[in-house]
Amino acid sequence: MTRVLITRPLPESVAERARAHFDVELRESTRPMSVSEMRSALALYDGVLPTLGDRFSEDVFAEFEAPRCGILANFGVGYNHIDVPAARARGITVTNTPGAVTDATADIGMMLILMACRRASEGERQVRAGTWEGWHPTQLLGLHVTGKRAGLVGFGRIGQAIARRCHFGFGMEIGYFNRSAKEVDFPATRMELSELAAWADVLVVALPGGAETRHMIGMEVFSAMPRHARFVNVARGDIVDETALIAALRTSEIAGAGLDVYEHEPDVPQALRELEQVTLLPHLGTAALEVREAMGHMAVDNLIAFFEGNEVPNPV
Ligand code: NAP
Repeated sequence: MTRVLITRPLPESVAERARAHFDVELRESTRPMSVSEMRSALALYDGVLPTLGDRFSEDVFAEFEAPRCGILANFGVGYNHIDVPAARARGITVTNTPGAVTDATADIGMMLILMACRRASEGERQVRAGTWEGWHPTQLLGLHVTGKRAGLVGFGRIGQAIARRCHFGFGMEIGYFNRSAKEVDFPATRMELSELAAWADVLVVALPGGAETRHMIGMEVFSAMPRHARFVNVARGDIVDETALIAALRTSEIAGAGLDVYEHEPDVPQALRELEQVTLLPHLGTAALEVREAMGHMAVDNLIAFFEGNEVPNPV
């Protein structure tokens, strides 16, 4: 029987379905795999269902010419933790789970826009600490969101879904920076990154991570942003130069930030944690049971198609 390794505990319905098709080994740790675990996985299993944090880099593949493993069916749309060319060179197919994550991640994007603009984390901390002195007309004044300008850096599935919420829900103007121009059913203006940064009241990152986009957002972008503007990242931490972000917040180059992802997860710099004007979420983008089930079933669909000799639905 086909041997499949699932590298993290998954919702039971997904594990059950995988077991109905394959001889499944379910790794119980919630932590990323070590290099030696990944090498063993390539040697001992026909397929692996890995996820964020399992760094299948070139050196993991290096000792194999043709490993037993034929497919890495990633759980998640982002696959910047997998060296795809190195996998392909060993005949390994890589798949992901696009679409299943879009709305949930866009919802978290909208939440971070609102929280960063309206100083929600700062206010909640005051209530919890018992330091709230009561309502008065000038307490915790934030940035009014309705009707403002949202700038999307990355205008694919998630970027567009956030823009849709901003436009239809909050009457916001939409600008975007993206590799290609996109057709959408609401007004959206394509701009250069520096132009978008200077234009937007809220700048939201929704690009893929990886070598191509690494540190695309740095001091140049933060300096171009208006001082009242907020910065939001729901994509990948390495797109942002975190040191530059901390400096921009410290010097009030920008007024606040809302982050779901970090450069070196789960490490979040002390300097960032000390800043009042940031909302810090622990990578919650897709954290809802039905979404994780949909992602899991999509990954299993890719495994089933692969081992039945069919075209995989979501190759990367
Ligand atoms: P997508 O549909 O592929 O959209 C990505 C967009 O970025 C595309 O429109 C693409 O342009 C553009 N792009 C890529 N490289 C670029 C570059 N170098 N310069 C300018 N534009 C570039 O992906 P998605 O489904 O929206 O997901 C985006 C990312 O969100 C994922 O890769 C993942 O890392 C992250 N994510 C995070 C969470 C979370 O839990 N926080 C959840 C899900 C996803 P083209 O269309 O022209 O190729």
